[in-house]
Amino acid sequence: MELIIDNLSKTYSNSVKALQNISLEIPTGIFGLLGPNGAGKSTLMRTIATLQEADSGNIVLGDIDVLKQKNELRQVLGYLPQQFGLYPKISAEVLLNHFAVLKGITDKGDRKDLVDALLHKANLYDVKKQNLKGYSGGMKQRFGIAQALLNNPKLLIVDEPAAGLDPVERNRFYNVLSELGEQTVIILSTHIVDDVKELCTNMAIINQGQVCLKGNPLQILENLKGRVYKKTIQKSELRVYKQNYKVINEKLFLGKPTIHILSDGNPGDGFSPINAELEDVYFSEIFNTTNDKSI
Ligand code: ADP
Repeated sequence: MELIIDNLSKTYSNSVKALQNISLEIPTGIFGLLGPNGAGKSTLMRTIATLQEADSGNIVLGDIDVLKQKNELRQVLGYLPQQFGLYPKISAEVLLNHFAVLKGITDKGDRKDLVDALLHKANLYDVKKQNLKGYSGGMKQRFGIAQALLNNPKLLIVDEPAAGLDPVERNRFYNVLSELGEQTVIILSTHIVDDVKELCTNMAIINQGQVCLKGNPLQILENLKGRVYKKTIQKSELRVYKQNYKVINEKLFLGKPTIHILSDGNPGDGFSPINAELEDVYFSEIFNTTNDKSI
């Protein structure tokens, strides 16, 4: 199964070009969609999920023409939006059973088996009798996944799931996702670069409605090999360094700013070569495509 997005464009009525000729080929597995706020990630995902229209372009999932065969797509789609409401005063088991009824699973025995299996998959079986209002953020996200899986989707779209999750919850959530990725096309939108590094076999960076980079994270890192240098500097020197070098990343190390720069040759001046991180790739792409170069 493969999702193919071909030349997709969308301009909102306020003239914002949210998608500009987006083309991506997304195979089974977890595909990381990275980009800063406003890049167009939600617009892209909502369009794939048939929740809004594109102006032009095509999307195909296997033999489904997504933009034309909306109902066919919806039957094989699981969608976990950034925010979703849950009834607080009922348990996960009851609510999931209720959603299963709405999905048309009429046989009581089948439904119980499915609900139990999904609660296990989402790691919520032991807390299935608890009311949802007592659930943590991570448990709610995992419940969201369980409900998104009721129709055994071929395509799962997950919009910024890790926002607000603590590291333990984030890990649990991602373990559930990576198991699913073995047989499902999963699009994971995030602005957390580390998530992509840990989980994704393929990725794209989008900015200002355009794909600036796509490919396999390891290969992408290979392309920056030998071109990233770092130096610890004084905070007051930062502006001058930004004027003289292509500063793609700045972090604090033991309280002092450390900059990463992109350079085709050894810049000297106290810089030392380092292995590029995915974050360097991300910032260098955003740097190249954003008018405002201050990052
Ligand atoms: P992201 O999910 O990457 O943050 P979005 O797809 O939400 O990006 O937004 C892309 C651009 O389109 C932004 O400039 C945003 O302000 C604009 N936008 C999003 N939704 C609408 C809308 N309904 N009407 C007008 N502009 C919108």
